[in-house]
Amino acid sequence: MGQTVWSGAHGSGAKLSKSNLLLSALGSDLPASWVREVHLRPRQVLCEQGEPLDTVYFLHSGVVSKLAIFQDGTEIECVLVGREGAVGAMAALGLRSGLTRDVCHMEGVASAVDADLFRSAVQNSNHMSGIVLGYCAWKMSCAIRNGACNALHPIEQRLAKWILTCCDVLEQSEISLSQEVFAKMLGAQRSSVNIILQRFRSEGLIELGRSRLTLVDRQKLIRRSCECYADLKVMEQEISGGMGEIREPAPRRPEEPRVWTLNGQTSPSVR
Ligand SMILES: [Zn+2]
Repeated sequence: MGQTVWSGAHGSGAKLSKSNLLLSALGSDLPASWVREVHLRPRQVLCEQGEPLDTVYFLHSGVVSKLAIFQDGTEIECVLVGREGAVGAMAALGLRSGLTRDVCHMEGVASAVDADLFRSAVQNSNHMSGIVLGYCAWKMSCAIRNGACNALHPIEQRLAKWILTCCDVLEQSEISLSQEVFAKMLGAQRSSVNIILQRFRSEGLIELGRSRLTLVDRQKLIRRSCECYADLKVMEQEISGGMGEIREPAPRRPEEPRVWTLNGQTSPSVR
């Protein structure tokens, strides 16, 4: 399938050319006629926890949090999904209802596929099965590790990890989200998050604007994160190495930017 190309997706009329790495890797085994382009809005819920999982979204831009929801209304993030993957990919494993509430953080564009069609395509293609199972294994591993991290590691380390991970998923150094969202994702108080962010800012790790955070010193922030950030990057490398066309070109240290190679094309590095 190569890179997905569409026009006017953000209303600008300008042609955009972006690609979802997972969708690109699946190639023509997923018929293009099954795929429709959709615009994602901030705070849009793509799938509700416990509700039917009827659509798979391959993100081209934006970022989605998969949130665990509790009876008292508490939400906490399990894992982030961006241009590297798909929301609802677990449909391929037979899942028919959402394990999490999947919420868009910002405006974006995705390719949407009916979950039943996606499931049948994966079941009928060894090529797709290998890639999708590898991707799901990776995301499940991330969610398991993040759950343990939430229980064990202090908020400062988790916040550093979340900023780094969000920048990785977005492939940029700026996050346009309020501190309230940061706190919600981490299951923390906004006041606690604010104190830590101000500390990071005073130490030159980040810059803060109105509902905007800019990562300034990535290496120093990695040192402020818990071990989970580096461990998850290693896990990503190991699993992606076994995903056929989705693989990294060479071993690298955990703190180095992710570079996927897809059909000879290299994605932008994370800076
Ligand atoms: Zn941790």
